[in-house]
Amino acid sequence: MSIMIKSNQEIAAMRQAGRILATVLETLKSQVRPGMKTKELDIITTKELEKLGAKPSFKGYRGFPANLCVSVNDEIVHGIPGERVLHQGDIVSLDLGTIVMGFQGDAAVTVPVGKVNSAAKHLMETTKGALEAGIRAARPGARLGDISAAIQDYAEEKNGYRVVREYTGHGIGREMHEEPQIPNFGSPGSGPVLKKGMTLALEPMVNTGGCSTRLADDHWTVLTADGSLSAHFEHTILITDAEPEILTTIETGSLCQRKRLSRSRGQ
Ligand code: MG
Repeated sequence: MSIMIKSNQEIAAMRQAGRILATVLETLKSQVRPGMKTKELDIITTKELEKLGAKPSFKGYRGFPANLCVSVNDEIVHGIPGERVLHQGDIVSLDLGTIVMGFQGDAAVTVPVGKVNSAAKHLMETTKGALEAGIRAARPGARLGDISAAIQDYAEEKNGYRVVREYTGHGIGREMHEEPQIPNFGSPGSGPVLKKGMTLALEPMVNTGGCSTRLADDHWTVLTADGSLSAHFEHTILITDAEPEILTTIETGSLCQRKRLSRSRGQ
């Protein structure tokens, strides 16, 4: 397996793709509301990307018909935006890919539609926490399995949910999907060694019920087989000398630096 090491120039392009992506996701988060059709989110995405100067990467990928994936409640990933109306209490996963100067960013968030119940809230917080646990494990000299194990441990052992097996995170760069595949489960100490300059998209998909999935009749939307709720969080990160840099963010700096900053601000 060959995992590419990115040059500084390539990383600069990915940083820009990531910052624009994060900006669009923030806009979408602020616009999500009950009564809205999911296709409205795709329309906003298209406009914002054009305004900010990044190309969308999902439309046309193996024939996917939209710029944004919108997956509601028991939909895990790859939902096609359309006529579906969002209701108070739904949770909605927004997954977006961008390209700047030929290099990609990929990120996702799950957000509440209006007021949601505590079970939905806990699932979203846990899935975000699982992503952060994976990011913290992504240090030079560690192995890929350390990331997978950290995500699984957080979601399954610590919080009693199940991670999806059939869909994984991935290397990313000039291509949206590069080597390696990054499962959200695995053994610490296994797999390739992480090196400075690798760029990876980590993306835990976490279900309140079982981990089995099914494909909808549209051949895209992936749902939980048992109808349980699912959440999805994703960041594109860069392996550095120390803690990883999150590329799909508006803020600069690492996760730990930001946490320290927000603590000192009393947030
Ligand atoms: Mg991805």
